[in-house]
Amino acid sequence: MLIDLHRHLEGTLRVATTVELAQRYRHRLADPEFAREQMVARGPEGGLVPFLAKVDVAVSAFQRVEDWQRAAVECVEDAAADGLDYLEIRFCPAFIALETGLDPEAVMDAVADGARAASARTGLKIALIGIVLRDLGPERGQEQMARLLGRRDLLCAVDIAGNEAGVPAAEFAAPFRAAREAGLHITVHAGEAAGAFSVWDAVNHLGAERIGHGIRSVEDPALLELLAARDITLEVSLTSNVHSSSAPSYAEHPVRQLLRAGVPVALCTDDPRASGITLSGEYAAAAPQAGLTAADLQSIRTQARRAAFGSDLSG
Ligand SMILES: [Zn+2]
Repeated sequence: MLIDLHRHLEGTLRVATTVELAQRYRHRLADPEFAREQMVARGPEGGLVPFLAKVDVAVSAFQRVEDWQRAAVECVEDAAADGLDYLEIRFCPAFIALETGLDPEAVMDAVADGARAASARTGLKIALIGIVLRDLGPERGQEQMARLLGRRDLLCAVDIAGNEAGVPAAEFAAPFRAAREAGLHITVHAGEAAGAFSVWDAVNHLGAERIGHGIRSVEDPALLELLAARDITLEVSLTSNVHSSSAPSYAEHPVRQLLRAGVPVALCTDDPRASGITLSGEYAAAAPQAGLTAADLQSIRTQARRAAFGSDLSG
């Protein structure tokens, strides 16, 4: 089974669709060559923030609610074409609203409609994760979570993402408690740009069951023991980590160290368009460069299935 547990809708927006919409709306990404250069990393971008710029730049070209329905359809179609069996799509309604002026609830409904329709057509099972944007601070975090919980039925989980150097996770404890009480699963972006402390915070203060990236957990043996003991899966995205300069290279990526410590790992894409990758390509090309063996990849596939938050994967 080919499963991606960590893929941002914003990082899947196709270059061609972005250019088409940009031409219609007289948006700055109307030139195809310029759009590609702005939207796709060619290698290490020198940090998480410049890499996120490549992810985020296209969002403002999707100016109508229908454009988000289309984005979700294309995200599912691209994943199905790559041979995926199950996909968890995450997106940040507050960020999309900031960039487009659209109503966040309308965006959530459109994304869910598009994703469901494409899922039914392609047979690819999907689930949605709503993201709180850390950069807006704890007060806006409450408000963002309230909006996500207002559409609780569309979501399998919530996440927090954005600049890890910003507001500490502990300040978002209350909204994440509310999400757990509403029966949603929790995954948290941590240990990517920030150190092992951010993974501790995600587990202790936000109740994270999985961690987005978490690769800097290798800096703390006690944390590795905790992740292994509590069966907390790290959603590891090899190429994204190289592009955001969170790992110096594939060969020096800490994924083998994590596996050796018994930490559960699932291989993910994060932002396939912004990184110019597919999940099958990550298994076939990036994983061997990171030193993963066929046996490692088999256990990673099994772990991805075990750690899925969403629909029934039996059968
Ligand atoms: Zn991510």
